[in-house]
Amino acid sequence: MEYSNEVVIEAKNLKKTYVVGETKVHALNGVDFTINRGEFCMVVGTSGSGKSTLLNMIAGLERPTKGQIIVAGEHIENKSEGQLVIFRQKHVGFIFQAYNLMPNMTALENVELPLTFQGVDKFIREKKAIKMLKMVGLGKYAMHRPTQMSGGQQQRVGIARALVVKPEIIFADEPTGNLDTKTSMEVLKLMHNIARTKNQTIVMVTHDNYLASFGDKIIHIIDGKIINIEDNRENAERNFASLEENINNTEAMAIV
Ligand code: ADP
Ligand code: MG
Repeated sequence: MEYSNEVVIEAKNLKKTYVVGETKVHALNGVDFTINRGEFCMVVGTSGSGKSTLLNMIAGLERPTKGQIIVAGEHIENKSEGQLVIFRQKHVGFIFQAYNLMPNMTALENVELPLTFQGVDKFIREKKAIKMLKMVGLGKYAMHRPTQMSGGQQQRVGIARALVVKPEIIFADEPTGNLDTKTSMEVLKLMHNIARTKNQTIVMVTHDNYLASFGDKIIHIIDGKIINIEDNRENAERNFASLEENINNTEAMAIV
């Protein structure tokens, strides 16, 4: 397949220092990187290495102490809180580790929510949300509430909710952190397939090197510094393909 070289996220000398009492924590200590349109980018590192901080900066959820962030052609490091809200609505979607679904709403209402915030009317909202639920394989679960679904199903609702507004960029912080291995791989594959067909960019944070090996680009972070950026496109394609093969073999074995 063709890969775009259009840069959609750029970070320049990005720093974030937290001050806790007398001590300073350099959560991000000067990082530089670019992410291309359509890329599935993994940020990998151990707990406390600065992954979430990095993601929150480039998603416009937190402001850096120093440095520049250019997302979809816009500098976001100096935007006000109000401008950031508009920026996020326009460009980005989020998938969370804890799903963050509204417990009293059905799957359908949860997926509709970002459209409600955009002022889309009810009929169109429902139509789009149902289409997304079908796309993540949950067409029959539209009227279920979060407690009536498994973790994997809840995360698929989370994915549908993130994607319903067709964001250019999807940010996911440990999206499979609460899921078993098999379900994690299903969720990963789903994110990958949808992003590929829609040419969306995904930035996913994980502490798991195996999951990271499915990314087109892998940014390795230790103690707030990037130690390596791997071009992993060919490996990622191969890993997804062999995953498919293993699943087929397992199913064949189950039938025998
Ligand atoms: P990761 O997501 O890789 O586990 P984080 O980005 O959450 O790491 O944290 C990086 C470092 O910054 C850690 O040492 C953490 O304790 C510290 N940190 C994160 N958020 C805050 C905060 N709001 N206040 C103070 N320290 C923080
Ligand atoms: Mg984290």
